[in-house]
Amino acid sequence: MKIDYQLKPETERRQQQFVPEGEVGFGRLRTDHMFLMDYENGEWQNARIVPYGPIEMMPGAMCIHYGQSIFEGAKAFMRDDGEIYTWRIDKNAERMNNSAEIVCIPHLDETTQQQAIHALIDIDRLWFPKQQGACLYIRPFIFATEDRLSVSPSEKYTFCVVMSPSGAYYKTGANNAIRLLITETYHRAVPGGTGSSKAAGNYAASLRAAKHAADFGAAQVLYLDSTNTKLEEVGAMNHFHVRKDGTIIIPEFTDTILKSITSLSMLEMGEMLGCEVKQETVYLKDFIADIESGEIVEAGGFGTAAVVSPVGSYIFEDKRVITVGDGNVGPTIKKMYELYTGMQLGNVEAPAGWVQKVERQHG
Ligand SMILES: *Cc1c(COP(=O)(O)O)cnc(C)c1O
Repeated sequence: MKIDYQLKPETERRQQQFVPEGEVGFGRLRTDHMFLMDYENGEWQNARIVPYGPIEMMPGAMCIHYGQSIFEGAKAFMRDDGEIYTWRIDKNAERMNNSAEIVCIPHLDETTQQQAIHALIDIDRLWFPKQQGACLYIRPFIFATEDRLSVSPSEKYTFCVVMSPSGAYYKTGANNAIRLLITETYHRAVPGGTGSSKAAGNYAASLRAAKHAADFGAAQVLYLDSTNTKLEEVGAMNHFHVRKDGTIIIPEFTDTILKSITSLSMLEMGEMLGCEVKQETVYLKDFIADIESGEIVEAGGFGTAAVVSPVGSYIFEDKRVITVGDGNVGPTIKKMYELYTGMQLGNVEAPAGWVQKVERQHG
């Protein structure tokens, strides 16, 4: 993949592969460079890779005032051959444009987005943390930069990609089951709203609910639809459950649920997992009854950061608790985690097109 970009001061490039001594953490570190591109006069232009650092913006920049800002999250992995491979970033590029549509940001060519990511990885490839289960977390985003105080779509934007060398999300596999708060107080999205986009404002809106969850000893919130009857998602993860017969069920995508690439992948992995993976409308009443009767045996969340996050129990606002199965991580979740991370690390063959090798142009 090739993109026409300028490489500005190519200083401070790592000379040796990054070998972390302790825990790298997730999302904490940055690599030496970032990719930038501007939208002005009706087109995307001036693609460049510059040292990671502050971005100058006018105080009237519209992203600050009106939140016209979207992002993506993806990962790249190093295989035994020492080469770096990105994971399904074509899907991230496509979703970036879906998000763009929803908050009136101009589309950015999907090939260009992928090339930008590959070019940046290539330059900072020595930042890949040589450690078991590590990855480069990739964060592409677009924000409005026009200096204007009236509310309407900005005429100027910046596309930026930054990367974070990250450690394995779990040290020993997906072993810790979390508790979710099922809340009727807060909602993440409404029909006709921005819930199906990775728009920055959605996450500002989730902070209060996350605090509320912590008050109940829950790790995160499981959001219901605005009528408090259907399960939606977990705010940065989609939700799923597993029936006694092994069927994995993800709530049907609507415009109040973000289409997780992890979910989309699992939906295509039924044959590999040896069970059915499907979507349906999930009613809260049925969900609770089925957990209590033992019809539902496992549950959790899907997202890039953790891949699979097992849920051991749910708490309601009246403090009632329901436990899924025996409250521990079940066999289907373990299988999903092993298979997915196995494909990412190249130990299991992934479907065609799911991984792309980052070609070497900068040694
Ligand atoms: C990013 C995100 C997810 C997870 O999507 P992945 O593509 O699997 O990382 C789920 N829900 C919301 C609201 C998100 O922002």
